Amino acid sequence: AALRELLLGRITDVPDYPQPGVVFKDITPLLADPDAFGALTDALAELCVRHRADKIAGLEARGFILAAPAAVRAGVGFVPVRKAGKLPGATLGQTYDLEYGRAEIEIHADALEPGDRVLVIDDVLATGGTADASLQLVRRAGAEVAGLAVLMELGFLEGRKRLEATLKGAPLEAL
Ligand code: 5GP
Repeated sequence: AALRELLLGRITDVPDYPQPGVVFKDITPLLADPDAFGALTDALAELCVRHRADKIAGLEARGFILAAPAAVRAGVGFVPVRKAGKLPGATLGQTYDLEYGRAEIEIHADALEPGDRVLVIDDVLATGGTADASLQLVRRAGAEVAGLAVLMELGFLEGRKRLEATLKGAPLEAL
């Protein structure tokens, strides 16, 4: 509960960003506070241990910022899930629907192997589209999903419900 208060106190609401009517959760104050960022890193690393993950995948771009230090803290490797066209090697891609149009994310085809247990980390779970695509990518790359961890879940968008089928019982942790 103390962690929750610490984190919530460092996330600010930005009205009408990126478009009118949307209230954007800005995590940059949290990143600027080493106590809060450190506590978040520790909590994510603990989830990695608790769910017996041996790799952490971070989603571009804010997911990278949270996932990379957590991977180092937990002593596991970090795997980037990037927007299409950014990774240099052979990739697997997954497209998904946005409110307007489609997006694609990619992972290196050889980044994961059978037997790997992957904790996927992002900053915010909104509709769940991004997370859904990333979980599918992890499985297509041959690994098992150990769990999905986010700093913040926007409950009213019901991403958790959307992810039920894709999680297949893997835990969804929102700090
Ligand atoms: P979804 O695919 O779940 O609808 O959107 C989640 C993705 O969009 C995440 O990668 C997240 O970084 C970004 N996102 C959506 N809404 C917000 C928000 O209010 N704050 C932040 N920081 N990211 C958001």
